[in-house]
Amino acid sequence: MKVHIDSEICAGFGICTGIAPEVFELHPDGYAVVLVSEVAPGDEDTMRRAESQCPARAISISED
Ligand code: SF4
Repeated sequence: MKVHIDSEICAGFGICTGIAPEVFELHPDGYAVVLVSEVAPGDEDTMRRAESQCPARAISISED
C-alpha cells in the first residue's frame, strides 16, 4: 500500500498527523507530507481512516 497527499488540495488541518504521526508530517508551508514510501502492513487500517477523515479529501491510497 502507498499513500499520497495532494499538496494542492491539503488545507493543513493536521488530522492525518494526529492519526498517524509516524506517517504524516506537517510541512512548514502548511500542507502535510508523507514520510514513508510504503505503508507498513499493520498501518493499513489507520491509513484508510486518515483517508476517510481528511476534510479536504487530499489523501489517496493505492493498493499496489
Ligand atoms: S488531514 Fe487532509 S487536509 Fe489535513 S493535513 Fe492531512 S492531508 Fe492535509
